[in-house]
Amino acid sequence: MDYYKTFIYFTLIVAIFPQIIDVFSQNTKQIYNYTVFQFKHPSFTNVYYCVFLAYAFCFLLEVILPKQREHGLLSRKGFWLDTFYVFFNDVLIYIIGLFGICAVTEFCFLKILNLFNVHSLIIYDIKQWNPFLQVFIMFVIQDFCEFCAHYLLHRSNFLWSFHKIHHAQETLGAGSTRRFHFAEMFIFKPIIYIPFAMIGYSAMDYFLFQITVQNVWGFFTHTNIKVKWGFLNYIFNTPETHSWHHAINIPRRYGVNYASILNIWDLLFGFYYLPKGIHPKIGIPDQKKMPTTFLKQMIYPFKLIFSGEYKKNSALQSSNSKK
Ligand SMILES: [Zn+2]
Ligand SMILES: [Zn+2]
Repeated sequence: MDYYKTFIYFTLIVAIFPQIIDVFSQNTKQIYNYTVFQFKHPSFTNVYYCVFLAYAFCFLLEVILPKQREHGLLSRKGFWLDTFYVFFNDVLIYIIGLFGICAVTEFCFLKILNLFNVHSLIIYDIKQWNPFLQVFIMFVIQDFCEFCAHYLLHRSNFLWSFHKIHHAQETLGAGSTRRFHFAEMFIFKPIIYIPFAMIGYSAMDYFLFQITVQNVWGFFTHTNIKVKWGFLNYIFNTPETHSWHHAINIPRRYGVNYASILNIWDLLFGFYYLPKGIHPKIGIPDQKKMPTTFLKQMIYPFKLIFSGEYKKNSALQSSNSKK
């Protein structure tokens, strides 16, 4: 019986494989053409120039209002590596096929639903609604999903092996936001895209929303600026609250302040943490083990996983944590 089932599944996968390749190549080509066009036609409504301007603006804030003056801007430890990560994770990763994989995930999910006589992923198409309401709904969905994904990156030993690259930084600057392993995106973005597909959006729509809202806000939260955000800290993730997310010593074993944009999620789930009058020391307890070059950092999580070392230390972020 098991052989029979295996044969059926194998046949199904072989049957839809050419369609999977087709969906992947079409979507990747669409993003590639879009990216090339955007780079050739600079304008203020251009997504990539918007990202570049946001990065430049945060950089300017760091010049005017630096929090840690001892870290020179260009000489900040890891600045050039962060800048490469910005290019890799905001441009190259999409051309390589991240959103092709999002579209393939949607396709496969629909194929599974077909078995239960469901022939569309769209539960309610909101694309005819008021544009502001659409943006608000997309924003809340995306931000909550990112919050959940971020929590899992800390909570699972396996996922922490990848995410600790983001935390193994001793100083923060605008570009620090993009220093993370691309596997994080390949694991979570296709899953987070499914709710978007359910309300009528394509992988391309998701891509544009993702890069202009989430990615741009990430520059801001990692900016090294000396500004008190007051009550806004209770609503939005700011450089103040996010610096505590990067702290070595925190009162929770698996981290605090997981929010991407809305700190409301952390307040709701009890992860909000912002002590008054002190600044955190940034990094992780086993900082010295982290390689300092891009390629070695890309290999590092796999070394931990294949050696089994990830089971021992990984998700323990803080050296003096209690719970
Ligand atoms: Zn984190
Ligand atoms: Zn961060």
